[in-house]
Amino acid sequence: SRPVRISVHLHPYGDGRKLLLSRDVTALEQADAMRRDFVANVSHEIRTPLTVLIGFIETLQTLPLSPQERTRYLGMMSQQASRMQSVVQDLLTLSRLEGSPLPGMTEWTPVQALMQRCEDEARGLSALLTQSQARPHVLEFPPAEQLRALGEIAGVPTELQSALSNLISNALRYTPAGGTITVAWERAHDGAVRFSVRDTGPGIAPEHIPRLTERFYRVDRSRSRETGGTGLGLAIVKHVLQRHGASLDITSELGKGSTFSVTFPANRLR
Ligand code: ADP
Repeated sequence: SRPVRISVHLHPYGDGRKLLLSRDVTALEQADAMRRDFVANVSHEIRTPLTVLIGFIETLQTLPLSPQERTRYLGMMSQQASRMQSVVQDLLTLSRLEGSPLPGMTEWTPVQALMQRCEDEARGLSALLTQSQARPHVLEFPPAEQLRALGEIAGVPTELQSALSNLISNALRYTPAGGTITVAWERAHDGAVRFSVRDTGPGIAPEHIPRLTERFYRVDRSRSRETGGTGLGLAIVKHVLQRHGASLDITSELGKGSTFSVTFPANRLR
């Protein structure tokens, strides 16, 4: 249990009596602490690659390097700059989402088309991630007829696409080559429809699960960094899903794998 913070104020009356006013400021202080944490995290995420970048620039300026060494240094500098760019892009996406009105049910996208784009993206990413390894990922998507039978889903197509793709790309990024990623869609009896991505990756310990959608929260820092992660992906996913009336559930078993599932209410399909 967290301590409760009460702000107390004595309001004087002209006749010498005083009124004791008290207010629970727990939520206010928590919001303030979260904002401070966030600013500190952003600064850190930007400062780290910047420090490395400045180090490389100084080296290039002061050391006589061979053309090969110069090329190698420039490659590493470009990597750091890209990392900063990704963080800034994700931050802008988050703030844009926060500032934009809730999408109405005016735009509809065929589930099958949505999944086709996700699949194309996933195959590209898998090829990129497993380039140097002999065994690619096994990628399982539902058959096209099943997806066509689901009809159309309401929402901002680009947002839905990026949220579902993000869950699939996380499964790929955290699952070693040769692992299996299974994407499924199923209808519940109440008409709700559930999208899920299951992987055979390392799994996530239970204490981390509730925190995964926090900004910059990472379980495996080095894996996140190696695969170009910003730590903002799931924060963005959660936001997009909330805007679309959908919820995110995460189940996982260490050493076995994880399942990320998204439940859309019945009225979101037609
Ligand atoms: P990142 O850019 O670090 O991947 P995310 O917000 O997408 O950031 O994910 C937060 C963290 O959740 C990741 O750093 C990783 O530790 C964990 N995670 C996400 N998806 C998976 C998965 N499929 N398997 C294992 N861990 C995962």
